[in-house]
Amino acid sequence: MTKRQQYTYKYNHSPKGIAARKRYLEGAGKEVSIKSQARWKKSIAGKEARKRERAKLKNIPFEIFKTKARSAINKAVLRGKIIKKSCVICGSVKTEAHHTDYSKLLEVTWLCGEHHRHIHRTAERQG
Ligand SMILES: [Zn+2]
Ligand SMILES: [Zn+2]
Repeated sequence: MTKRQQYTYKYNHSPKGIAARKRYLEGAGKEVSIKSQARWKKSIAGKEARKRERAKLKNIPFEIFKTKARSAINKAVLRGKIIKKSCVICGSVKTEAHHTDYSKLLEVTWLCGEHHRHIHRTAERQG
């Protein structure tokens, strides 16, 4: 964190900052921000910004896949679509889902924390 971020963080979490935010959200600030957001969305600049945002995301597909893949697994486990298994290497029951291919959201290997990290370290070394 930079000095400035630290300062902002401190302020945002201080009673003064919290009260100020609350006042802003409860009062006029709420309407102003909703209206200006709607205006911003309709404006050309806003549309351009959203387009740029999407393009930016397209440039880092791997990060997106990673995040998507993780949340897909979490959801699938919660809904009982996928059953958590024990570590394929050591049999530990405390496992994490490891994606061999992030584009195949629900194809995972179950590994304990230790072996999961190990696999990633090995994979990184190999490139
Ligand atoms: Zn293990
Ligand atoms: Zn993994």
